[in-house]
Amino acid sequence: MAQHFARQGQLSNENSSEQAYIVQQLVTLQRLGRIGLWEVHLPEHIYFFSEEMYRILGLDPHKSHATPETYLAAVHPDDRQKVKANMTSVLQGHPLFVELEHRIVWPNGEIRHATVRTEVARNGKEILLYGTLQDVTEAKRAEADLRKNEERFKFAAQALSDAIWDWNIREKRSWCSDNIDILFGSACPFSDDPLALWVEQVHPEDKERVLHETRAALNGTANDFCIEYRFLQQDGRCIDILSRAVIIRDDTGEAVRMIGTLIDVTERKQAEATRKDNEQKIRHLAFHDSLTGLANRAHLAERLRHALAVPEPGRHGGAILLLDLDDFKALNDTFGHAAGDQLLKLVAERLIAFVEKGDTVIRLGGDEFVVLQEHPAEEDRIEAVNRARILGEKILGAFRLPFILDEHHNYFVTPSIGITLFEQGPETAENILKQADLAMYQAKAAGRNTLRFFDPEMEAVAAARVALERDMREALLENQFELYYQPQFTCEGRLIGAEALLRWSHPTRGVVSPVKFIPLAEKTGLIMPIGLWVLTTACSLLKRWSTIPECAGLAIAVNVSALQLRSAGFVEQVLTIMEQTGADPRKLKIELTESVLVDNIEDSIAKMMVLKSRGVGFSLDDFGTGYSSLSYLKRLPLDQLKIDQSFVRDIETDPNDATIARAIIALGHNLGLAVIAEGVENEGQRKFLDHHGCPAHQGYLLSPPLSADRLESFAKTWHGQAGASCHTPDSVRD
Ligand code: C2E
Ligand code: CA
Ligand code: CA
Repeated sequence: MAQHFARQGQLSNENSSEQAYIVQQLVTLQRLGRIGLWEVHLPEHIYFFSEEMYRILGLDPHKSHATPETYLAAVHPDDRQKVKANMTSVLQGHPLFVELEHRIVWPNGEIRHATVRTEVARNGKEILLYGTLQDVTEAKRAEADLRKNEERFKFAAQALSDAIWDWNIREKRSWCSDNIDILFGSACPFSDDPLALWVEQVHPEDKERVLHETRAALNGTANDFCIEYRFLQQDGRCIDILSRAVIIRDDTGEAVRMIGTLIDVTERKQAEATRKDNEQKIRHLAFHDSLTGLANRAHLAERLRHALAVPEPGRHGGAILLLDLDDFKALNDTFGHAAGDQLLKLVAERLIAFVEKGDTVIRLGGDEFVVLQEHPAEEDRIEAVNRARILGEKILGAFRLPFILDEHHNYFVTPSIGITLFEQGPETAENILKQADLAMYQAKAAGRNTLRFFDPEMEAVAAARVALERDMREALLENQFELYYQPQFTCEGRLIGAEALLRWSHPTRGVVSPVKFIPLAEKTGLIMPIGLWVLTTACSLLKRWSTIPECAGLAIAVNVSALQLRSAGFVEQVLTIMEQTGADPRKLKIELTESVLVDNIEDSIAKMMVLKSRGVGFSLDDFGTGYSSLSYLKRLPLDQLKIDQSFVRDIETDPNDATIARAIIALGHNLGLAVIAEGVENEGQRKFLDHHGCPAHQGYLLSPPLSADRLESFAKTWHGQAGASCHTPDSVRD
């Protein structure tokens, strides 16, 4: 402080260039910083203003004098009082340092802003007041501009009803505009970090996604961010929020700040949902029949167009069954339109009840209905025709029951059905309907209550199936079926049993292969009575063999179809047959295929277990051609695996077949199951199987299927001439 008191006159006396340089620097500093210096010495009343001080006051340094009056005259009249008071308080010594902001009025009328800083030093009676006066006009203006902008920004935000938020990631601070309270559903309780609380109220089902997407956006490179989510207000109300933001990144790309808006879009979302709902309703109205609630003609046209045009996996084509009620007009005329409408509704209900899953029932209009049946891709045309015909017959059957009108009146009505098939291709939906319509008129012409196919070729196929089915029914009644038995041998050539194979000799068709008629019997359900006959016949033979020494040890394997195993009474049926025929259950082996078993594995296992507990054995037929999944194989109570003949055929030449056959043998060995190979036709195949440890086989090599009588004589004369050796292969040896 001493230099202040000693400074008077010193600078002018010393003339060193170094000091001049320092003075020059100080002057520059004041000018650039817009800071003036001043001093007041009391009690002498000596005053000093630096040049910059004069300039800040708007005065010419050469024409003005440094006095308190000069200073006060420059102060804005409204601020003079507070400047004076400030000086007085400083002079009284409290406090020792004061800072005050006030305005200055330049002679040209311009108003400036300045900050005066004052310090006091005392030395006995001497008092030195000194300080700075800084022109802060520019900073003030910038601040005022900023404030104005901020106000505008907030005002705009308020007007937009968007809440604005600003998250300073680097400084871990956040700010939200006041109207965020509206979204919160109450006053935002944590004003120091509203965003942290914000996240807390995001709907629990959306929170993970919001956090994940936000994090991803921050870690990414984009500068925009937009997200929609649900938000739970504090009263529990759920609103939809749309949030848009800009991400501010530093030079390295790191996100340092995020500024965005939040908008309540609940109403918009609701309006959207209502619009969609309405559209759906309109669509439903457009594609459905109002009387029956069924799909309508427009729906059918759409479905057909789609089916014809788009190759969809698993959907390839299908059939249209167009049915027209016979004599519907009579009902309308006699009982009135209300009764007619009632009947149409009942017909719709019945059709729905009778068609298969995946089929669509459509009301074309009037008394015309369509059933759309879609066919799997792998189905060939004959199968497709047959499937459509079976459905058509099912529908005809459904109309044999009366429709109950007005709760008491039994009304019988029949349909005439026209059927046509379609495939992907250039055919139009209109044409397909026309074909079905033509076929329907043929059905009418043929006497009604019947079905007709559009295409004569389809008609022929369908007719052939109808005839075959009719002949099969007849075959049961006329005893045209016969069971043949193909002997089965051990590898040493010992006869151990036979597989029962169905034979049908028809008076005009000749011998019909089971490959031709079993599939149709399965589709039409005829396999049930046929299967019953097979089981009964085989068991009767077992009983008879028990009295013939050469045959007493032989087992019979019987093929059982899916439909049989699936039927509720299957187990009881087998047990009843055993009882009635007196056959030894331990001599009966049931052959099932993989597809039959996996269809409903729990049911299969349960049924097999019951029969197995009575001694009945199970063989897995055609093994290797189906799923061959180890997991289910282990669960099934099987006794034997049967290597399918397709692997045996080229076992010597095709390494793949040989590998599969060997694998099945090893598998059987490991699972403790017997293994038998079918379709063994030559010595080479037998030797291969024998060499690799296959313990049993059947096939034309040793014998084709034989009639029961011939098998009996075969058993009596057979002494096991084949298969001298039976090796256990390395691969399956323990
Ligand atoms: P599958 O059970 O695989 O029967 C084996 C078929 O191979 C039989 O044909 C049999 O005659 C034939 N076969 C026997 N040895 C040889 C041979 O060395 N080489 C060749 N290439 N084939 C041989 P089949 O009798 O025509 O029976 C065909 C299919 O019909 C059977 O296949 C079975 O799935 C079914 N089937 C036969 N009888 C019945 C039955 O009573 N009920 C059921 N549900 N299906 C049966
Ligand atoms: Ca078989
Ligand atoms: Ca087989």
